[in-house]
Amino acid sequence: MLHYSCDACKRPIHSQNDVRHVVKIEVFPAVEDLPSSPTGLTDEADHLDAMHEILERMGDDDLPFDDGTRSLRFDLCDACRQRFVKNPLGFKTGKHFDFSNN
Ligand SMILES: [Zn+2]
Repeated sequence: MLHYSCDACKRPIHSQNDVRHVVKIEVFPAVEDLPSSPTGLTDEADHLDAMHEILERMGDDDLPFDDGTRSLRFDLCDACRQRFVKNPLGFKTGKHFDFSNN
């Protein structure tokens, strides 16, 4: 039997009692400068040829080409799933500064 634990709180998730929620995050560069044509077919083909040329040139390099693409996957328990959907990016909402007098 597969064993899962929550990636946020590390609590074990027992699939018979708990609901396991899977969060998938895809990070990739958005391409904004594609030439737009009414058909899109020819320009797209040209773009693909250019991409192949770039990729072939990159292939000569020993270093792997990193365009920032990431594919992340997390398992969350139900409590963490509720917190996640309220604040998916985990950014603080400005209340983390504690200006107490000391
Ligand atoms: Zn959790």
